[in-house]
Amino acid sequence: MTFKRIAVGGYLSTLFLVLLCACGGNKSDEWTGVLLPVEEDSTDPHTYSKPEIAVITHMDLDLDVDFKAKKLVGSVTYKIKHEKAPEIILDTRGLKIKQVMLGEQESETSFSISPEDSIKGSSLTIPLAPLTRVIKIYYETTEKSNALQWLSPQQTADKVHPFLYTQGQPILTRTWIPTQDSPGIRFTYDATIRTLPGLMAVMSAENPRQKSHDGVYTFKQVNPVPAYLIALASGDFQFAETGPRTGVYAELSLLQAAAAEFSDTDKMLNVAEKMYGTYNWGRYDLLVLPPSFPFGGMENPCLTFATPTILAGDKSLTTLVAHELAHSWSGNLVTNATWNDLWLNEGFTVYFERRIMEEVYGVDFTEMLNLLTYNNLKTLITKMGNDNPDTRLKMDLEGRNPDDGLTRIPYDKGFFLLKSLEQLAGRKTFDAFLSQYFKDHAYQTIQTGQFIIYAQEKLLNANKLEFDLNDWIYTTGLPADCPVPQSDRFEKVEKQTKAFVAKNDLKKLEAKEWSAQEWIHFIKILPRDLSADHMENLDRSFNLSNSRNAEIQAVWYELAIFNGYSSNIQESISDFLIKVGRRKYLSPLYTALKETDQYELARSIYAKARPNYHSISQQTLDQMLDF
Ligand SMILES: [Zn+2]
Repeated sequence: MTFKRIAVGGYLSTLFLVLLCACGGNKSDEWTGVLLPVEEDSTDPHTYSKPEIAVITHMDLDLDVDFKAKKLVGSVTYKIKHEKAPEIILDTRGLKIKQVMLGEQESETSFSISPEDSIKGSSLTIPLAPLTRVIKIYYETTEKSNALQWLSPQQTADKVHPFLYTQGQPILTRTWIPTQDSPGIRFTYDATIRTLPGLMAVMSAENPRQKSHDGVYTFKQVNPVPAYLIALASGDFQFAETGPRTGVYAELSLLQAAAAEFSDTDKMLNVAEKMYGTYNWGRYDLLVLPPSFPFGGMENPCLTFATPTILAGDKSLTTLVAHELAHSWSGNLVTNATWNDLWLNEGFTVYFERRIMEEVYGVDFTEMLNLLTYNNLKTLITKMGNDNPDTRLKMDLEGRNPDDGLTRIPYDKGFFLLKSLEQLAGRKTFDAFLSQYFKDHAYQTIQTGQFIIYAQEKLLNANKLEFDLNDWIYTTGLPADCPVPQSDRFEKVEKQTKAFVAKNDLKKLEAKEWSAQEWIHFIKILPRDLSADHMENLDRSFNLSNSRNAEIQAVWYELAIFNGYSSNIQESISDFLIKVGRRKYLSPLYTALKETDQYELARSIYAKARPNYHSISQQTLDQMLDF
């Protein structure tokens, strides 16, 4: 295994161990030593726990869901592993820790909680006896438990019962369970959840398909998972099958639409397995959450949590299902060691998602997705600045909230790195490499340095290929050799758009045939200062302001804000912002309002919308709008 020589200095020197040659000199160009990449420091900067001293191996969760007081109350019991460690350290934040017990016989012990760090929260240190193998913590959540969103009946689709869901990634699980909250620490779990009779409860585990009569549910996750993948939801939802191994949970008024929208899920699962090996998680189901959910989807094992904004009626946004399903391999099976390595979860998942989409919906469709991704990535890098350290794949989030790293960089730049490798090696070779990668690292974590060594040996050296992985991973901006996707369908749209803009003539557009992706591309390439006449003409014919497709709504509203047409459709925009809590839409729309001197309007809409948003979206917008 040989590696390119790299001048030592700056950022790279902190990541590579330098083995000196006999002469001992190490001055850049003159130096003749060998550089061996070694495993980077894989310590997770966002946890207090020290798994090398004492680590959790199994969790037993026992909680009451108190909708009235908006809190979870109960206990968590852990089986732990250690060699005469004096203590075990857990992460906690916004929790009321009441009592800590040691051993099966539950003898009470003292514990200490450190002062709260604004990002990591507090450490919970529990002294251990040499033979202690079980610890139990009695606790309850508080209004500071940011993973939880408690929704009133009014905030749900059916408006009769309240709804609770959790969002653990990146470091919020510690706000509803005191735990070792690091992606590098995996454990199995069992849980008993008591909710209101008449409501359903589900977790990232084997799930019930019918409501229990008394509101008591038990769960089992037999595969070891990191804490960020523990999830819970409770509300008035029901189950519908979409295939032998797949199904959907949704509120009754959405259930049929959701089952129809996701009817290709089983096909996706079969396609995914054929490409990269057995699906290890039993069933794959989806839960449709209320619109306040801050993300598109969350890959909770066995049960993806999804935004209702993907229910477009024409399956046009089910890329998200392919994405969350792909996480069953990249992320849930092979997990990034720290949030600095997020691209190993997300870049792989976008690549895998596109391969699923290509098999199920065809090359044409996937080319459009790839080109949209490329254009968005270029715009994002321009906005962030070409030399912005956060445009590196390997991030440095120490001392910062790991949520700051959740830009599209790890997703889309990561995707194009894998796409480059695929093009270089050829699909057959690359697929064999990826299958082996998933097998070799199953139920383990991986960090960027390990991946480089693995890929260099198993893909590049094994096939006599030259490729600069370091450049892609450690350099800012977009590498010059990034493949540029082509799409014939988008080329047609571009020609028609030019003709339409020149004459404001709708006959130039063959829009009847357009997919949602063609609409999105069309709106995105329209000039920012498009005239009010053009906007009106489009809106009158295609009713874009009231589109059923949230992606189209979002780009249309953004354009309208920039060119001033938004004053005509103010209500639609406000309604959208108040109803939908998905940060992907909120950030660009509030930013557009801010950038067009409508700061006060943005703040007044936000004041109404804020109670509907999850804490993750609130945090972003509080900052943006000085709230
Ligand atoms: Zn993802």
